[in-house]
Amino acid sequence: MRKPFMAGNWKLHKTIGESVQVAKLLRIKLADVSDVDVAICPTFTSLASTCEILRETNVTVGAQNCHWEPQGAFTGEISAELVADTGCRVVLIGHSERRQFFGETDETVNRRLGAALRAGLHPIVCVGESLDQRESGVTESVVEKQVRGALDGYSSDQLTHLTLAYEPVWAIGTGRTATPEQAQAVHAHLRSILASAVGIDLANRIRIQYGGSVKATNVAELMACPDIDGALVGGASLEADSFSQIVHF
Ligand code: PEP
Repeated sequence: MRKPFMAGNWKLHKTIGESVQVAKLLRIKLADVSDVDVAICPTFTSLASTCEILRETNVTVGAQNCHWEPQGAFTGEISAELVADTGCRVVLIGHSERRQFFGETDETVNRRLGAALRAGLHPIVCVGESLDQRESGVTESVVEKQVRGALDGYSSDQLTHLTLAYEPVWAIGTGRTATPEQAQAVHAHLRSILASAVGIDLANRIRIQYGGSVKATNVAELMACPDIDGALVGGASLEADSFSQIVHF
């Protein structure tokens, strides 16, 4: 039985003060939650303060990216080690906005994953097809290539704390959610890819989140699908009330 895992991706939103304010509200609103794992992923500048507010609570903090090198002449980058140094335990890797706007490839996703594992962070690797790809009928092969590219070279022992997030690009920030049937079909496919990549035991333990316009009103029907183990939530995670409702699905 996989424990549900809800993560909020705050993208490029919120000052330190605003992040702390929402973190304080989540500390209260989610205090009763023990049957769902929860993480929020604020901007880099808010990591240390939100970690401080959420220390010894049931809400963990994650970064939205990390570089593959531990240190060096990489102006503007943040290493997985520095992310971990803020108190973070989770990191998003390969979000479609990074693939779309910042040249992220399966190869860089693979290298970032290695860095996250080296630093002891729990990675959430994001995959998903564009609208064109879905309409051309290549969704399955697209996500397969992304997953195999991300995991290539890592052993199942190293991937124990991996989470996968299936986020169809056409559903992110658009208000257009995949139907539970569409999402479940891809999640089942992802689990079979995981089984061949890391073995059936681990594949059955790895949580696969759905992401793409998840809200309090549609989370329950998505979570009712057998291979949907949580959600990666953008817009609806920015307010404590709506994210709390999603966590309490
Ligand atoms: C996301 O940022 O990963 C996401 C799924 O965004 P939204 O929930 O706003 O579609």
